[in-house]
Formats: sequence, structure tokens, C-alpha cells
Amino acid sequence: MYFTAISFPMIDITSFETLDKAISLAGGEPTVLEALWDGNTTGWYLYLNLHVTIKRLFFSKKEIRYIGKISLGGDIRLFNKIVPPWPEAELAKEWGKMANEKYGLIFYFPSDKEPDSNCPRWEQRHWGIQCADCAKIIIPTDSPYLPKDICYNCYLTREFNNKIKNAEPNDNGVNLYMVKDEEYIYLGYSSSLDGFPIAPFITEIVQARREKRLVDIVTLEERDISIIKEKIEQALDQKVAVYKSAEFSPDFPQNFKRNIKRLTVEYKGNRYELIEQLCKEHSKIGSLVRALETVDNAISGDYCFNFYFKNGFNHRDDAVLRFVNFVSNGSTSISAIVQRYNGILNETEVRDTITKMEEVGCLTIEGEIVQTTDITRKLL
Ligand SMILES: [Zn+2]
Repeated sequence: MYFTAISFPMIDITSFETLDKAISLAGGEPTVLEALWDGNTTGWYLYLNLHVTIKRLFFSKKEIRYIGKISLGGDIRLFNKIVPPWPEAELAKEWGKMANEKYGLIFYFPSDKEPDSNCPRWEQRHWGIQCADCAKIIIPTDSPYLPKDICYNCYLTREFNNKIKNAEPNDNGVNLYMVKDEEYIYLGYSSSLDGFPIAPFITEIVQARREKRLVDIVTLEERDISIIKEKIEQALDQKVAVYKSAEFSPDFPQNFKRNIKRLTVEYKGNRYELIEQLCKEHSKIGSLVRALETVDNAISGDYCFNFYFKNGFNHRDDAVLRFVNFVSNGSTSISAIVQRYNGILNETEVRDTITKMEEVGCLTIEGEIVQTTDITRKLL
């Protein structure tokens, strides 16, 4: 008996039929199907290996065939900091079970709940240990900074839970809306006010108007916006007066050139080509042009700006609001929240958090039912 690994082009496994076909094309008798995580710049994916035994008259040999990958792409799931079950994992589990029933093979999927590239492969599985928190088989980390008895994902979960337990401050995040009467147009989120392109022109006035309430909503009216527009134009005038086109340095790798974005903008009747990744001054002009666009849209549509800040929130407040709003679709019972944070917060701590969030207008409580409000939806 000996091993060889034969590589085929990675095909996308998109249904049990494609998997079934890949298994039958692999040849030999399938013994183990393994699903392992790997990541690239577009996100995590699962690759599938098939272990087969090939019998000849006088000998048999084992081979491992890479038969394809399950990849749904995109990391949109991370957006709300609430990670839903990975759909790739659900598909792999379903198809692995079907392959087991059809071929009698072992389906080996060491991390079937979330991505983890530190799990042992099938042949390495005897070197692995069980994660003390989730029981997944892992190869212990060699990092001196991480605990060895748990997987990285459980380490992150412990860290996050400690922040909730210790009620560590969490005022991160500002949301910006363009508002007219009851109409709210979402313009974006930034971890702090500085992250918005219009930040240099509004920070002073916005900070001065903050009332430092738990939920702080600052409004910039039409008059404010006109003043901001003037300031942006002054800054732009200075920048375009010294505009120079950007050139690639002679040793710039040819292959990367087509990945570099060029953008042509028009300002006061003149056109400017910007290569923002290449030139700091271009990126400043680009940022000013975007700020001006935002402001022009507000002025032409009679909108004002609303900034939503948190002020004195902690990780408990944030976690409970996200649980009610995203995981429970805006409505749940107090006991469900208590159960969710079991082992992290006691019932009194959960009730205190809910009461605090009710007082600031982020939750309503009716009997045992807790609901998020419009403010929560704008704040998170
Ligand atoms: Zn774990």
C-alpha cells in the first residue's frame, strides 16, 4: 500500500449531482470523502478530497484525489458581526451524508460549523486534539500568544464573551443618513466620524452639537450644508490648481497595471484623471469630489444630514441589541435573551441591560416581549 496524490483542476461542486459525478470519475473504490477549509482573497471555501483504493490483480494502492470545491464567495455574512451558519458547511454536510449513503464511504468534515484551516487532514487526524470548547479536532497552535487547548474560533469567542461579561465600553460606529420628513436615505457607516469623506468639513460643528446622551443624534440643516459645500470647494480649488497626472514608475509590474483603477472626474468644467492607489494627492481630490457629491445631492433634494452616535454603550448593550434586532428579527422574549447569554451574563445583568436600552429608546418592553425600535435600526 502506498499513497499518491493526483491533482485535477478544481471544479465547482454546486450540487450532489456534480459531486456524485466527480466521485465516479475519480476511479477506484471511494473510502473517505474529506471536506477542509481554505481561504483566499475572496473568502473561505471548502475543498473536497476523495480517498480511493485502487485494486489490481496483485496489489492495491491508495490515492487521494482533489475533486473540487464548494464556494459561495463573499464575506457579507460578517457585516452585522453576527455570523449565521456557513451555507457552504450546510451543503457539504448534506451532500457528504448522501455520498455516505450511496458509496458507504466515511465523510470526514472536522470543522462543520465554521471555517478553520487548522484542522488535521484525514491522514493527520491522530495528531489532532479536541478543542476544549467545541470538541472540534484541531492541530494545536504553535503561537506563544494563543491558548493551546482551544481552536482559534473559540479563542475569539471567549475574548468577545469576556468583553460582554466585563461590560467593556463600546461606542464604536457612526451612521449617517440623508433625511427629509419621514424619508431616510442611508449614506454609510464608519467606525468613527473621521472615516466619512466630509469629515474634515463637519467634525467641528458636529462635535459641538453633540449632547452626549446615550444615543446622540446630530442634525446638519440646509444652512450648515451650504457652508460645508463652500469649504469643500475652496479645498478642491487649491488641490486642482496644482494637479499633475500620475505616472507609473518604470519598474511597476506590468501585470498589476490593469488592476489599478483610473477615474475621471469633472469639476467646474475641467476633467481630471485620477489614479488614487498610485498618488496621494489624487486620492485627496477623489475624496473631496465624493464629499462634494454627497453635499450636492443633499442640497438639490432638500435633505439634511443626521449622524447617529453611541455614547456610553458597552459590549452588553451592543450584544443584546444585535441579538434582538438581527438574530431575532426585532422581537423576542426576555427569557430567550437570558438563555442566549447563559454562562456570560446572569438574569439580573440581562434585565438591567434591557432596562437601560429601554430608557434610551432602543428597546420596548411589553410584559416578557422585547422589541427593537426605529432608533436601534438606525444606530446599529
Ligand atoms: Zn473550538
